[in-house]
Amino acid sequence: MKPRCRVNGCANARAGHSLLCSKHRSRKRRHGHEEQRTISKTDLRPFIDKVQARITKQPDAKLWSICDQRWDMLTAQWRAELPKTIYRYVRAGTKELVRLANTVSGREVAVTVIAMYLLQDHDPRLFKNEIGFRTQLVRRVRTLSSTSFSHWSGASDGRERRAIKELEPRTVEYLSGLLVELFGPAGVRVAQLERREEEEQRKERLVYYEALSEVE
Ligand SMILES: [Zn+2]
Repeated sequence: MKPRCRVNGCANARAGHSLLCSKHRSRKRRHGHEEQRTISKTDLRPFIDKVQARITKQPDAKLWSICDQRWDMLTAQWRAELPKTIYRYVRAGTKELVRLANTVSGREVAVTVIAMYLLQDHDPRLFKNEIGFRTQLVRRVRTLSSTSFSHWSGASDGRERRAIKELEPRTVEYLSGLLVELFGPAGVRVAQLERREEEEQRKERLVYYEALSEVE
């Protein structure tokens, strides 16, 4: 009997020399981990809203304009000239970032990255490991631009279909490194603030309920 895929509950046979079946092997390649689920737009929405609310509350905070500037500086430099390197993933990654910068604003990217940090802080179990997190981070940022998809029609229902253009895992890793370097510290800070505020609200509610129980 051929050995089974190492994923719990998967009855498929292993593919080639892999410990995984072909389905899980390709999931690992595309999502950074064989059991990493896709983080959807809907999953991220409430956290995007939280970041946007924070920006609205304090629109002049330097952090937001610094995020914009960091993005503009990096992408402008590469738009003028892509780095000369022998590494294919670096070329592919920088090209991808410039392509993104042509269709989305640095602010949108920053908000998405910060929201991903909030989501991770809120529910760390959504991410199988750091690579899983970073792969989903890149995916959410790339989906901001319709140019990240290939479109085709001709399905039996006549509707247009689209699928994200896959990048090499090494390119995704490089790209995630750039995004984390650009906006990771902002993500960590905003996640800290969110957590602190939630904790304060919880305490206030507690005081309120205690006060209620004291009244006779
Ligand atoms: Zn499997």
